[in-house]
Formats: sequence, C-alpha cells, structure tokens
Amino acid sequence: MTGLDLLAKTGSRGLFIAGQWRESNTGARFQVHDPADESVITDVADGDTSDAMAALDAAVSVQADWAATAPRERGEILRRAFEAVIDQADDFAELISLEMGKTLAEARGEVTYGAEFLRWFSEEAVRIHGRWMQAPAGGSRLLTIRKPVGPCLFITPWNFPLAMGTRKIGPAVAAGCTMIVKPAELTPLTMLALAQVMDEAGLPAGVLNIVTTHHSKELSSTLMADERLRKVSFTGSTPVGKVLVRQSADQLQRMSMELGGNAPFVVFEDADVEAAVDGAMVAKMRNMGEACTAANRFLVHESVARQFGDLLGARMGALRTGRGQEAGTDVGPLINDDAVQSIGQLVADAVDDGAEVLCGGSAPDGPGHFYSPTVLLGVPAQARINREEIFGPVAPITTFTTDEEAIALANDTEYGLASYVYTRDLARTIKVAEALEFGMVGMNTGLLSNPAAPFGGVKASGFGREGGFEGIEEYLDTTYVALPV
Ligand code: ADP
Repeated sequence: MTGLDLLAKTGSRGLFIAGQWRESNTGARFQVHDPADESVITDVADGDTSDAMAALDAAVSVQADWAATAPRERGEILRRAFEAVIDQADDFAELISLEMGKTLAEARGEVTYGAEFLRWFSEEAVRIHGRWMQAPAGGSRLLTIRKPVGPCLFITPWNFPLAMGTRKIGPAVAAGCTMIVKPAELTPLTMLALAQVMDEAGLPAGVLNIVTTHHSKELSSTLMADERLRKVSFTGSTPVGKVLVRQSADQLQRMSMELGGNAPFVVFEDADVEAAVDGAMVAKMRNMGEACTAANRFLVHESVARQFGDLLGARMGALRTGRGQEAGTDVGPLINDDAVQSIGQLVADAVDDGAEVLCGGSAPDGPGHFYSPTVLLGVPAQARINREEIFGPVAPITTFTTDEEAIALANDTEYGLASYVYTRDLARTIKVAEALEFGMVGMNTGLLSNPAAPFGGVKASGFGREGGFEGIEEYLDTTYVALPV
C-alpha cells in the first residue's frame, strides 16, 4: 500500500455526498500538486454550488435520525474510525506528506494527533449531560436538555489536512450533528481518505459529506444563505474568518473561528536556556513553522539572548531541507512559491532593520518551495517580521530587560492564540500566565496541542474551542425546561 492507494475506493476522487462517491455536476476537476516540485499528484472533482446544495440537502435529510441515534452508537463509530486510521497510519502519513510537503515523521505525528480527536470524542459522545436543579426560590425545578446544533459546514486549511478535519468531525459526530466538509483546495486528498474510513466505520449516509472545490467563496456564501445550515466551524486566516462571520449574520449561524496567530516565545533570565532551545525547536519547527501555534516572536532577556541565539542557530542550521518523503529530510518544502517569497521579504526587511543572521537567511538553490531554517538576532520589536505571521522556518529574536516589558511586548499583537514562556520562578510563572492575553500558554514547553485540551484563541485569533471537554459544547444547544411542582 502507498498513501495514494487509500483513495482507491473514492470513485475517481470524487465528491462524497449522501454516502456516494460521485463526480461534480459540471464534471469539472482540479489538480493537486506536490509542493516539493509542483508535479501533479492527481486530480479531484471540482464541486460547484449545486453540489454544495446537494450536500446540504443530504445533511438536512438525515439530521433528525442521526440526532436520535444512541450516543454509544455514535461513540462506537468514532472508535472504529480511530482504529482504522491508526491501522493505516503509514499510508495516511504518506498521503499527508505528498500533498502538503511535511516530512513523513511530521505526518506520522499528525496522524496520531488527528486520530486522537476521533478517540477523545468517541469517549465524550456518552458524556453529554444536562442538569437538574431546584429553583432558588423553591418550588419549580429547572431541567436542561442538550441537543445537536444541526447541520454544520466545516472549512479547513492546508497545513494539517487530517487533524484540522478530525477536530471538527469528531465532536460533531459525537454530538449528533450532520456536516459538510470543504477541505483546502491545496490539500483535499487526505479528507477523501478519511471520508472512506468514516463510511467503513458505519457512519450513516449523509452524516458526513465532502465537497472539494476551487470555488470556496461561492460555496460558503451559498450554503450560509440557507437557514437550514446551523453552524460553521472555520480554521484559516483572519481575513477569511471575518468574511465568514459577516456572512453568518443573516441566518445567525453559530460560529467557531480558529484563525491566525503571532505567538510570543518568552525566555526569562532565570530560564534553563538549553531546555528553552529544545522547546523553541518544537514551537518553531513543528510543521516547518506552518502552524498557527508556531512561535513567531522570540522575546529573550538581554542577558541570555546571545547564548540562546547561538544554541538555536546551531540546531536550526543543522537541519536538512528536502522532499518530505526522503529519508534524512528534517524540513520539507513550504506550501507554494508565494510563501517562499513573502518569508524572503520579511527576512530582508528584518536585516535592513539591523538584524544579525545567525543561520540561514535565504532560499536554497534549486527547484521546489524551500526556505532554509533561519535565526535572526537583534530584531527590533516593531519590525514587520514581528507583526506578521511568518508561517515558515524563521526565528526572529528580540531582547527585553524587565518582566513588564516582556509582557507588554508579548501582548502587543492583534492576535491571541498560542504563547510560550520559559522561567523557573513560580511567582513569575503565575504572574505571566495571568497577564498574557492568549488562549493558550505553554509553560516550559514548546508543544501545546493536545486533543484533551481546549484549543483556541482570543482577539483576532478567533473564538470557540476545539478539543477537551469544551470541544463538544460548540456542537450542542441547550433547551431549558421549567417544571413547576
Ligand atoms: P490559508 O492562509 O491557510 O490558505 P485561508 O483562510 O485562505 O488560509 O484558507 C483556509 C480555508 O478557507 C481553505 O479551505 C480555503 O479554501 C477557504 N476559503 C478561502 N476563502 C474562503 C471564503 N470566502 N469562503 C469560504 N472558504 C474560503
């Protein structure tokens, strides 16, 4: 088996609507490219708005029956899907690596992480509670009933083709919602393979529908204009998130928005600097820096900045770029040429602003969308690279002198998703964790993502939480019943 073999049962990599693989109504298709060399991997159906409406019709028609299934049954389907993904983990990893570019080791990590949402929510399906209480004034009783919100639209990005889907699909299935998934046009293949797995795990036809398309804007505006769609969960850029929130106004769909980040990675003078470098490698280089949780701004106390920079530069400089599927590759290609160009411009601007290049600083020669892992020291706080999401393997270091300055710098961003802090001082740990305006704080760790934890942001990073006990709440409405006695 290879990754592409996972697609053998998907028709000709068609749309998955009402439990059937089929071509788009227009018969149009679009190509999927290998980001390492732009060669064509394969093509998929290019759905239009009539296909999207067919998917919504399918989701709506089975919503009531699906909501009425036993929670245990929904949980068992998710559990079987989890096991099937893990059984085929190497194939899923290869498929993810092929279409997105990340190394096989990174892709294997995503499979474990992505599958875990299926397992976590298989366990949550049977733990949906209402409550029962006596009214404060006595007499009546208050009862709450939890119900699935109804048909959902999920729009996912290209950086985690499996996990960004499962962390929406898992809780929606557990809660009893039906759904339409529109994967990123750059990486649609993994979602097709997942749909096949969910089907074989026993998910009834129509509960999960997949529409691959090049017409995202038309698809979202058509579906969201329909009052039968009750919820949208989006992971992607802040500008698109804002468009979707505006679009939701007329039908008042419930929204979950997991948007951009600009994560600070703060190293205080009392930190274990070697541990901080280990953490920085994870926080920066997971997914080649193409993650909304990626450390974007390294804020390091002036007394340890040179030591931290030299150690990080040595580690980053030793990484090998190459095709994700090749043995010995540490860093795969970026997603496309635009990404390489925009990162190159951010680095050039930082150098113009006086930054010192400790390693990297350019794109390697040759074909493919590669950028060499780069560490920059002495980056001014206001440099463009500190204000924009880099989404690549570049670590800019800015120094600070006081705790207050570090906190102010860390919070000086419109975003509020992930943040990281290295210190060994307990009082400082508490003070900083409370002062940071971010949805997530990693204390002496470079890895935050955990299916059992509530993932999400504040400010321009969006709202809503994925994973944890909170994740299923996004898919449940509450009905309160007054019971006078
Ligand atoms: P990224 O920078 O990760 O590509 P985008 O926000 O552009 O972020 O894309 C994330 C997802 O949103 C992709 O699936 C893309 O196709 C989709 N998308 C982009 N624009 C729209 C839109 N107007 N309506 C719905 N989906 C969109």
